[in-house]
Amino acid sequence: MKIGILRIGPVDHKVLESLRENIKTVFPRTGCDILPDTLPLARDALNRQRGQYRSDILLATISIYAGKMRGIDRVLGVTEVDIFVPGLNFVFGQAECPGKAAVISLYRLRPEFYGETSDFKLLMDRCLKEAIHELGHTIGLGHCNNPFCVMYFSNSILDTDRKKSVFCDKCQLRVLNFLEAEIDNEQI
Ligand SMILES: [Zn+2]
Ligand SMILES: [Zn+2]
Repeated sequence: MKIGILRIGPVDHKVLESLRENIKTVFPRTGCDILPDTLPLARDALNRQRGQYRSDILLATISIYAGKMRGIDRVLGVTEVDIFVPGLNFVFGQAECPGKAAVISLYRLRPEFYGETSDFKLLMDRCLKEAIHELGHTIGLGHCNNPFCVMYFSNSILDTDRKKSVFCDKCQLRVLNFLEAEIDNEQI
């Protein structure tokens, strides 16, 4: 599986570099690259009253982009802005389940958002968890009821900090089955 990381608006390059390295440690036999493009933040995704962007609209633009990409199986959009879906105050990310496109926001992963001092390692821990979670959705995984599994739904940053950046045994088996089936398909 080839994963492309795509900027949605300007994004800290150090975060993307670190994310690229970390994703490869969780997904076996997977390539991960930072794509050269930057998608602009869609104007119609901005809700001025809330000061937030609609993640479903951003996801739709990523999905169109992903559909045109050759040789990339999944596109993970990363944005610095705060995102939401109607009915929820905010989301850490969103993904097609299954599909090619996913998006995560760094906005509420930064310790500064909670009044704490900046901490790159903590930011990257959180960032990896949310990225793996959304990529898990793109290969068809739903939410897991194990609070330590990366596929556990994060209602708040406490849930994100509690869970690990890896899949529980049950979810890991599904990931491996998926990756194996994909390799078989490539060989046919
Ligand atoms: Zn989820
Ligand atoms: Zn699980």
